[in-house]
Amino acid sequence: MSNNKLKTREEINPEYTWNLNDMISNLGEWEQLFETVYSEIEVLTNYQGRLMESSKTLYECLNNKDNFLVKLYRLMVFSNMNLHQDTNNTDSQGLVQKVSSLQVNAAAALSYIEPEIMSFENSILISYMNSNKDLEKYKHYFEDILRQKSHILPKEQEELLALAGDFAGTPSNIFSMFMNADLILPEVIDDNHNTITLTHGNYLKLLKSADSKVRKTAFEAMFNTLDRNKNTLTSVYLSSLKKDVFEMRARKFDSCCEANLDGKNINISVYDNLIETVNESLPLLHRYVSLRKKMLGLDELHMYDLYTPMVKDMDEKVSFENGKNLVKEALMPLGEEYLGLLNKGFNDGWIDVYENKGKRSGAYSWGTYGVHPYVLLNYQDTLNNTFTLAHEMGHALHSYYSDESQPFIYHSYPIFLAEVASTVNESLLINHLLKITTDKEKRKYLINHYMESFRTTLYRQVMFAEFECKSHELVEKGEAVTSDVLNQIHYDLNKKYYGKDIIVDELIKFEWARIPHFYTSFYVYQYATGFSSAVAISQQILEKGESAVTNYKTFLKSGSSKYPLETLKATGVDMTTSAPIKNALKVFEALLDEMETLV
Ligand SMILES: [Zn+2]
Repeated sequence: MSNNKLKTREEINPEYTWNLNDMISNLGEWEQLFETVYSEIEVLTNYQGRLMESSKTLYECLNNKDNFLVKLYRLMVFSNMNLHQDTNNTDSQGLVQKVSSLQVNAAAALSYIEPEIMSFENSILISYMNSNKDLEKYKHYFEDILRQKSHILPKEQEELLALAGDFAGTPSNIFSMFMNADLILPEVIDDNHNTITLTHGNYLKLLKSADSKVRKTAFEAMFNTLDRNKNTLTSVYLSSLKKDVFEMRARKFDSCCEANLDGKNINISVYDNLIETVNESLPLLHRYVSLRKKMLGLDELHMYDLYTPMVKDMDEKVSFENGKNLVKEALMPLGEEYLGLLNKGFNDGWIDVYENKGKRSGAYSWGTYGVHPYVLLNYQDTLNNTFTLAHEMGHALHSYYSDESQPFIYHSYPIFLAEVASTVNESLLINHLLKITTDKEKRKYLINHYMESFRTTLYRQVMFAEFECKSHELVEKGEAVTSDVLNQIHYDLNKKYYGKDIIVDELIKFEWARIPHFYTSFYVYQYATGFSSAVAISQQILEKGESAVTNYKTFLKSGSSKYPLETLKATGVDMTTSAPIKNALKVFEALLDEMETLV
């Protein structure tokens, strides 16, 4: 749809818009809430230095803080969502600015609380918890603070670290400025043989082209450019590695990986086990690569041929009404209660469906404690968008269950678990579609869609996780890290992962240099653990029915009231073992088996 045909926000049928009034019903109410929150900041600072006075004072402070944050987040979410539905609306821009500075003030005012609790003798905190029933709800919160105590340094050293923290974000800032603002990418050709400028945004689209010349030109243009800038890109990544090693040493961890995972109380064995299990299953990925070569009918398969669809796109339209029905049918195995909530979400103003002038792109689920969750879509009548609907409703219902079941302090689910519920829904949708589809071409399309998720979300992210491990280890051991060294690691990983039926073009060695996630260290493995957990959970739901659903709901209701691995265990998925990854890969193998017979 071209931009001039787009409707304005006012022209959109309200039936397809979300109802933000469920959060705050008018501007007068917004102003009033803003004043309340503003005045409460000072009340909260009054507890500073007094938390140890009595269990009553401690409880009062924490409870007031929670009530304060509920109101602050409501202002923040409401204002931002108003802006997202029409980013050109100056009134909404004003609200967001006001609430942003309020947030900065609030964060500064509350920053004393955790360090002050951390300075308690453990025995005092325990006796407070035992003597004051009100404090019980904060038990896990306290445990988590105390757990991290052994890596907290004496006061002066912590102050020094906080000062150093000021420039800890520098490598990531330089990388982003360089890649997005300064790096000049060359001109390439597109599908229509027009000359266009390569961008980070159109790169993947060009790699998906059916024309191998388009793919090859884009690939070479990207990596030759990175090659010409290898000194800058290596220096900035190396400075990020050194920052991690500095923090790891300062806080007395054995490795950067351990330091990072400890923050969420994830044992390093989860990381190692993931890499090991996926390595054992590389023959499956090699089979997939061979199949891709065969299906594309190429004499030689190159690294730039990995993204082009192996199956022709389905141009069948899926209207929003049909999309909702497909999602409802697909999620039937989750039981009546879940379906009831899903219907409520579909009918009660949770979702903002269509694109309009000025609306934020993409899709998300977001919300605020005490009010139902919201979903932003830019629905365009495609099957892909139906998957997005299932995905975002997975997030939304996860939030709904956790909000309903947990006190504010534990209502939001941790990042390690963030993509589980959304992927369970996608996985149930693909299972349903495969069940009702007999047409051979359509089946091929669906299987390809699912197999690509395994390749990109599981295999590729684990390959990146291995790269991160190796590059950090080099700096930890004090070895020289040059672009040649990093290139060699990445090249060898590609050879190992993709196998013999692909020509691993030399230029792929620079791929590490363009991955933004490497500046949030040890993050990408969570895509793989989340995906494997979700596939394993959805299989259990389909095979075992009600008992698996009951366990899954316990998971959905847990928020962050337990450590992530424990929460996941409620579903029978134990990420310290290889079983969930193996179970997920069995699904991949079955897809591969079928696809091999279909071609
Ligand atoms: Zn998501």
